[in-house]
Parts: sequence; structure tokens; C-alpha cells
Amino acid sequence: MSAFNNIPESTEAPNQLITNLLPVPLKYIPLPAPLPSLNTPITIVASDGMRPPCRRCLLDASPGEELHLIAYDPFPVDSVTPYRGTGPIFIHAYDCGLFDGDVLPERQLRRQMSIRAYDQSHMLMAAETVDGTELEKVAGGMLADEKARYVNVHNSKPGCFAVRIERA
Ligand SMILES: [Zn+2]
Repeated sequence: MSAFNNIPESTEAPNQLITNLLPVPLKYIPLPAPLPSLNTPITIVASDGMRPPCRRCLLDASPGEELHLIAYDPFPVDSVTPYRGTGPIFIHAYDCGLFDGDVLPERQLRRQMSIRAYDQSHMLMAAETVDGTELEKVAGGMLADEKARYVNVHNSKPGCFAVRIERA
């Protein structure tokens, strides 16, 4: 018997949601908080080798399209939560129109995602890293518990905020 046996394997907070509920229908909310003013944005041009996903229209940029790379905080502006913070996102340099579809564009589901469920006080309830194809199922399962108010989705590798998900 080693003294190390009592050391927990993980320091992650446990999932505080009821699991194994039937997933609920979802709606997708791009840019849930207002965009910051873009006085001196960093502008890039998409190419065949680099097609960043725009967080307004939720489409990957086509080669030749201009995008701004900005810092963005997806939490409500009046929320006080230790989880808030800015991270990098791309948006088209022109007004491409806010996504309002019922299902995410297929290319958005090819990436690895971090999904985090928050309660009405914007405190973390559950967190998972999933393949994009699992996004709907896992986010829908988290939101099946009424205690979860919304889910924030980030691209796992670069950390960009992707979209907010709520119950439809
Ligand atoms: Zn766009």
C-alpha cells in the first residue's frame, strides 16, 4: 500500500449536472456579447491553406476573404464571474450577417471542441472536450438539466470562442 494511493487522479471539479437525460433541441447563438470597437484590428486574408472560421456567420472563410483577428469575451457584459476572459476570434472584415440556422455548418463540426455548461450565475457546471461530431449530443445532454442555462463552445486547440448554445 503506497501513500500515493490517496492522491486523486484529477483536480477537475466534478460534473454538477444530472447526466443521462435525453438531449434537448438546441439553438446556436454567435457572438452572444457585443463586439468590442475595432480601432486597430489585425487583418488577415484567408488562403487555401488557412481558412479561419468566422464567428459571426459561422462559415470558414474562403480564400481571398479578409478577416479581423480580435480579442473577445463571450460572457454577458454585466456578469461577474471568475470564468470570464477574452480570447482570440476571427470575424469577416465585412458585415457577413449573423448565423441564424438550426444546425451548425458541417465544417464547424470537424474540429475538437471544449464545451462548458454554465448556470444562471455564469458559474461552471460541467466541462467536456469532444470531437465536433459529438457536439450536439453532449451539449444537448448538458442542457437537458434545467440548472444549466447555456453552453459556451471553444475550439480546443487554439482556444477560440466558437458559439454559445442554449435550449431551443
Ligand atoms: Zn462571417
